Formats: sequence, C-alpha cells, structure tokens
Amino acid sequence: MCDKGCQYDVNLLARFKVQFPDLAPLIEHLVVVINKLHLQGHKEDCHIVKAPQLTKGCGRTDGEGVERPWPHSNETAKITQDQNPGHRKDTFDDTNADWNYRKQVTMGE
Ligand SMILES: [Zn+2]
Repeated sequence: MCDKGCQYDVNLLARFKVQFPDLAPLIEHLVVVINKLHLQGHKEDCHIVKAPQLTKGCGRTDGEGVERPWPHSNETAKITQDQNPGHRKDTFDDTNADWNYRKQVTMGE
C-alpha cells in the first residue's frame, strides 16, 4: 500500500508538462521521498527507492517535519470554520508564521 507521494510521482512530470509547463523544468529535479515513519506502510521497493537515508543529498532527516504542524493546523481549522475565506487565510498565515517562528527560535534546544 503506497500513499500519494508514490502515486503522484509516477506521472508528476507528465502532468506538470501539460498543466504547468513553466514549472516542469523544476519538477524534473524533484525527488520524492517518503518520511521514515510513513515508509513502513509502503511496498518493499519504496523502502529502497523512496528512503530519505538512501537518497543522495537528502541528509540525515526523518522527513517528519512536514507532519508535525498538523495537530496545530487542525486546532486552527476548528476556530476558523465560521470565518470568511479572507479572514480564515489571514488566521492560517498568522498561526503558520507563529509555528515557523517558534521552530526557528527553539532550534538547537
Ligand atoms: Zn510507496
């Protein structure tokens, strides 16, 4: 069982060439990897081809950093459900900026 990362990676470049041709040259350099915790749920091939620790230039990461803000975003979603689209976007921008700021100032702790 694979997730969106593996599924979208198959035709990603072809789709960008059709739908976003200006961005296609960037996608040619994109390497899709799967976060270490999520990798356990993938096919055996993905454990080699999509593993961050086996991908050149990926460095030492678990790749889970993109997942960590989700609980925070879910709480924000609850408080913004009655807001208009503009106000909702502003609230998400503010809370995401706060998340990024807190992440930066606590790095190395
Ligand atoms: Zn996979």
